[in-house]
Amino acid sequence: MKEGLDILYALQQKDDQLKEIGGLIQEIPLQIKALEDERDSRSGMIEKAKKKLQNNIEERKKLEREIAAIKEKISKYKEQMKKVTTNKEYQGISNEIKFEEANITGVEEKIIEKMVEADEIMAVIRDTECEFNKIAAEYNQKIKELHDYLDYHKTKLDEETKNKKELRTKVAANLLKAYDNLFVKKAGKVVSFVQTDFCGVCNIKIRPQVLSELVLSNDVLICESCGRILFKNIAGENEE
Ligand SMILES: [Zn+2]
Repeated sequence: MKEGLDILYALQQKDDQLKEIGGLIQEIPLQIKALEDERDSRSGMIEKAKKKLQNNIEERKKLEREIAAIKEKISKYKEQMKKVTTNKEYQGISNEIKFEEANITGVEEKIIEKMVEADEIMAVIRDTECEFNKIAAEYNQKIKELHDYLDYHKTKLDEETKNKKELRTKVAANLLKAYDNLFVKKAGKVVSFVQTDFCGVCNIKIRPQVLSELVLSNDVLICESCGRILFKNIAGENEE
């Protein structure tokens, strides 16, 4: 019975390893997603600037339409001017024309402001795109590496699951049954490796009597505190 414990401990280690690989397989896609989101938020900045530029172009077109409308108004005034009979009427229309011409100057100034703004936005787009392309290449490289890492662990999981099945066939039936029962109750930690005289899982000091039984008897011993199967690597300690 005691002889089977080393295989049982090997099974525990295999299950620990599988748990770790399983954890990584769950964790890596989250890391990939976080990197993708980070990368895409950077490209979002470019999209934002492009929208701003589009708005700027539309605002300029609107201002140009305003100028066209004012010019039309002025040419109508000029038509009216041909038909006036009094000096007062002439003065009145002439003032209207001056007023509208001043309006045009005001709108033209706004257009120039918009053009300056457009240049600034285009510079931001250029810089952000340049920076993004550099960063995106780095992100994509990291993402690719994580995908490779994930594939590696998936293959590893398959291999180690096979190894575990193989290992299970070597464990005595009664021990395996106890292991499987405890596996559920003890959150996957069944066998406790005893380092000197402490339970490797709950860290409680093992009574000397139990410890000597652990070394000398062939019975399977359970930690009095956490209920796990105690395993002491006697051969390994003799080597020290
Ligand atoms: Zn314990």
